[in-house]
Amino acid sequence: MSETALHQEVEALTQQLLATAGNRFQRDPGKVIVRFDLTGKAAGMAIFPARSTPVIRFNALLLTENRYDFLKRTVPHEVAHIVARRLFGKKIRPHGPEWRQVMQLFGAEASRCHNYDVSRSSRRTLKRYPYHCDCRTHQLSSIRHNRVLQGQSYHCRSCRQPLIELAESDQGL
Ligand SMILES: [Zn+2]
Ligand SMILES: [Zn+2]
Repeated sequence: MSETALHQEVEALTQQLLATAGNRFQRDPGKVIVRFDLTGKAAGMAIFPARSTPVIRFNALLLTENRYDFLKRTVPHEVAHIVARRLFGKKIRPHGPEWRQVMQLFGAEASRCHNYDVSRSSRRTLKRYPYHCDCRTHQLSSIRHNRVLQGQSYHCRSCRQPLIELAESDQGL
């Protein structure tokens, strides 16, 4: 399944859960904006901006790696935060009885934490070092960059010229 299709599935499930809650509690839980821009160890996050539509941010990598559990647990978990807050107000505890009641309605296990493998999602982006040849810019890993500093040279496969580190002042051009 493509990432886009998977995101659409999460969007559809979110709308479906909101409708389920609306029917059960006879109150419209309102709209929610779904984004897939969360990184790091958290699988999802519900955000309540003061004057605009609530947002659920999902971790796209953990979604891809844990599709089944994500749809079964994480999506209901975050939607239940939206519903509980909308129906019971902002003074409730995040994982208190109101939230658990909504989770029960969703038929989802009311656990607070996920046990997804976060080794890939929590890995920090590696620093890259820009080099140039005669034809383009190359991004070298810190391992290769350190080898260059120790005297090793790398050549461009296209123009066969040696890679030269871009001066700080050249970067961003
Ligand atoms: Zn939560
Ligand atoms: Zn080149």
